[in-house]
Amino acid sequence: MVNNMSHIPEAPGIQDRYSRVIDYLRVSVTDRCNLRCTYCMPPEGVTLLDHEDILSFEEIVAVVTAGAELGISKVRITGGEPLVRPGLCDLVRALSHVDGLDDLSLTTNGTLLKYYAAELKAAGLKRVNISLDSLRPDRFLSITRQGHLEDTLSGIEAAQVAGLMPIKINTVVMRGINDDEVKDIAVLARMRGWSIRFVERMPLSGNEGGYVPSSEVLGHLSPLGTLDPQLPAFHNGPARCYSLKGTGSVGFISSMSEPFCSTCNRLRLTSTGMLRPCLLSDAGTVDIKTPLREGADKAIVQDLLLEAVSCKPGSHSLKSNGSRIGTAMSQIGG
Ligand code: SAM
Ligand code: SF4
Repeated sequence: MVNNMSHIPEAPGIQDRYSRVIDYLRVSVTDRCNLRCTYCMPPEGVTLLDHEDILSFEEIVAVVTAGAELGISKVRITGGEPLVRPGLCDLVRALSHVDGLDDLSLTTNGTLLKYYAAELKAAGLKRVNISLDSLRPDRFLSITRQGHLEDTLSGIEAAQVAGLMPIKINTVVMRGINDDEVKDIAVLARMRGWSIRFVERMPLSGNEGGYVPSSEVLGHLSPLGTLDPQLPAFHNGPARCYSLKGTGSVGFISSMSEPFCSTCNRLRLTSTGMLRPCLLSDAGTVDIKTPLREGADKAIVQDLLLEAVSCKPGSHSLKSNGSRIGTAMSQIGG
């Protein structure tokens, strides 16, 4: 169970061929979304899958249980928008009972959190990351194509009231679109006690590419005073974090300007049941759905997890070769 690991020996995580320890699984529960963020999805959305093409909750729990025995100790639920999948709290409840997990979190656009935050907390969810790219309603609408700022802000508040802490906010910084709001977002985050992560936009299907380097974003924050580097912490993942004048934390996810592949600790499970060793590469993807539906037992699932880990590339090559990934983030599970 989450937070109750005393009776099982601690599994070491799975070591890959570059000596990285893989202990984190991102689980996408749907490719559907109630928004159409410009950097993530084409305006018409993505081709929707049939329900039977998507892993069932039982199948997801089977993969996580098998992984936890190998040392996967952190799970993040994502999508698409995970809260559009009916019954998500039931999945959270089931995952919270998997032995060996010490962190269970959710990434969401926040629009539906006001309805679910309390139930998610009661089901065993520990914390949430929420996407927020603008504090201006008109811009928020144009970035998300159909979202209302008010919904996300009330979702963040509901998460805070429910105790889904720490609240982390993800902001994808885009030149000429929201880079003038970086300071305002950081100030609001400090005031409300949120940790903020400024994210470099990656060139995935559905966006025109180009990113604002974290070094530049850091410059926008200089009027707020000295930023003191924080020591790496497990829950900060790939973010490079700084303390903001004693209170608050600002992080930078610099996938493009300073790839963090050498410390990558994760695997992804797509909603269609593919184990994906690297977000930014289609190489080494392992089908786990077909074997599961053919009756694979836990040992077989563990072999497939080990196979995916063994295929993890040393690094992605987006920066060096300027290539793009033809799949939308919402389909992979961001
Ligand atoms: N719908 C949820 C949300 O928006 O938080 C979860 C899924 S979304 C794909 C997960 C994260 O991926 C979000 O924080 C989003 O900002 C980020 N993301 C999507 N496309 C991206 C891109 N091209 N570059 C960088 N981050 C991206
Ligand atoms: Fe939906 Fe999240 Fe992608 Fe925006 S970033 S379109 S909210 S999946």
